[in-house]
Amino acid sequence: MVAKTLDSDILILGSGGAGLFAALHAHKAMPQLSITVAVKGLLGKCGCTRMVQGGYNVALAREDSIERHFMDTIQGGAWLSDQELAWKLVVLAIERIKELENELGCFFDRNADGTVHQKAFAGQTFDRTVHKGDLTGIEIINRLAEQVWARNIGRLEEHRAVELIKDSSGKSIAGVLFIDMRTGEYVFVRAKAVLLATGGGPTMYRYHTPSGDKTCDGLAMALRAGLPLRDMEMVQFHPTGLLAGTHTRMTGTVLEEGLRGAGGYLLNGAKERFMPRYDPKAERATRDVVSRAMFSEIKKGNVTPHGGLYISMGHLGADQVRKQFKGMVERCADCGFDLAGGLVEVVPTAHYMMGGVEFAPDCTTALPGLFVAGEDSGGVHGANRLGGNGVANSTVFGAVAGDQMAAWVKGASYSEPDRAAIDAAIEFCERPFRRGSPASLEPLREKLYGLMWEKVGILRDAAGLLEAQADLNALDRALDAWTLPSAERAFNLTWHDWLNLKSLVAVSRAIALAAAARRESRGAHFRTDFPESGALEQSAFTSIKDGVVSMKPVAFTRVSPGQTLLRHVA
Ligand SMILES: Cc1cc2nc3c(=O)[nH]c(=O)nc-3n(C[C@H](O)[C@H](O)[C@H](O)COP(=O)(O)OP(=O)(O)OC[C@H]3O[C@@H](n4cnc5c(N)ncnc54)[C@H](O)[C@@H]3O)c2cc1C
Repeated sequence: MVAKTLDSDILILGSGGAGLFAALHAHKAMPQLSITVAVKGLLGKCGCTRMVQGGYNVALAREDSIERHFMDTIQGGAWLSDQELAWKLVVLAIERIKELENELGCFFDRNADGTVHQKAFAGQTFDRTVHKGDLTGIEIINRLAEQVWARNIGRLEEHRAVELIKDSSGKSIAGVLFIDMRTGEYVFVRAKAVLLATGGGPTMYRYHTPSGDKTCDGLAMALRAGLPLRDMEMVQFHPTGLLAGTHTRMTGTVLEEGLRGAGGYLLNGAKERFMPRYDPKAERATRDVVSRAMFSEIKKGNVTPHGGLYISMGHLGADQVRKQFKGMVERCADCGFDLAGGLVEVVPTAHYMMGGVEFAPDCTTALPGLFVAGEDSGGVHGANRLGGNGVANSTVFGAVAGDQMAAWVKGASYSEPDRAAIDAAIEFCERPFRRGSPASLEPLREKLYGLMWEKVGILRDAAGLLEAQADLNALDRALDAWTLPSAERAFNLTWHDWLNLKSLVAVSRAIALAAAARRESRGAHFRTDFPESGALEQSAFTSIKDGVVSMKPVAFTRVSPGQTLLRHVA
């Protein structure tokens, strides 16, 4: 059933910041290597790095320091981060931003004196977010894609990775099985090193921000390959997702944090301000606090016509709002809302997964030959990610992975793949082609959205998490019994939707299991039955492998709770 087999020294899954940086660095280290970037969409046109609005955190200013960036990251992550990973992030972010500007051709906004402009972002003690207006991701991805196109780097576009295939001994990676979405045929790529950089993406929630191609495929493949995943309960919600009805994909997309920062009010369905009742910082509290307050208000039923809340900016002066938030005003106008002078419906929206595959600072994983970088990896951000640390994470570790893979494949040879594993993966993908009564996938998708939103979302408790696990098992069985309406293979997007849902259900189970295991509230994870945070000195992270969650102690390798690396504060 495999129509084509290809060889590539290095195979990269995903073309976001992580994948493209890895390709460029591996090529720079050893230009004679065969390197292939395989991607579900079109290179440069998909994934979330392209969607980055706010910017990139990096300690560039003389008054800032890597120690300060590190402490903000560790404290923001509620002491769950792997400190060696966080340290690498803050140190190498400086090199990467210089490479982006000086070698790859990005233009970031500048001050009048020629220095790079850095803006304020929530949760940080210094204004360190480098940006290009509010379209930073487009600048980064366009320049990276151009550089990849200009080099001898292979591309498999509209190729969906469906399984990581080990060698016949099961001890190392031998390659990856794909579906060529253009023909529907199976393609196997043998590789000496593989990078998992498919970018996670919590699109199993009713409201979410990431691009539609992100359906946790990499994490689902890693779970099936028996790799440990950490911090899976940590899902970040952004408070102000646009709520414009079910007919538009604009619902769930982000209205930037600066609106609340500038003094915007959140109102309930009765048009009353409620945030001061929840937190002294009101609308300026952190993302997790505001999202929880909003969810509680929604639960009380005092909601807008679409079931959310309002953001109101008019008291700041409509002209001023139009000037300061041009892009946001236009986005809202596209959906019939007047942000400058009226009310806009909003709802918290699932934004980012802090959890992912456990990995070492050199991007190696428990499976020799398999590397991971970007949002597929876990441990850098702990219980919460600072805005601006996401794209820093994917570019920093993508580059590390590229360097390491180039060294890894030196002297390595191709392995013989486990043929039975390829056959089993194909059998899995073929399930919806079996004869049966064709049906719509929509009810199953709605079920997933609803149960994750209600039971595994912003507020969680033991009973809801247990119910969710049973619901997810039932949903998985329903998906296995489901039949495609069309047996066409080329660009059969319903087939790919089914595969998307299979990945999302597998990863949702991991989130629910990890959330049930963490009997405390911390960072993005809130348990109404355990509202307090445990002792920080005894911090442990969840690690899930083969459906079993264990708690592993956090190693405070650089700083312990109560201490700081900042000399003048110590
Ligand atoms: C709206 C929005 C705004 C954001 N703003 C910021 C910000 O201001 N600052 C910040 O730091 N972070 C921000 N983030 C987070 C940031 O985008 C991510 O942290 C980061 O870009 C992830 O990079 P990545 O390379 O891991 O994944 P991505 O850039 O998402 O790339 C993943 C790639 O994998 C491909 N892929 C997926 N599945 C498969 C498969 N099965 N087979 C083959 N390929 C596959 C995708 O098509 C894509 O090419 C934002 C995110 C969103 C959604």
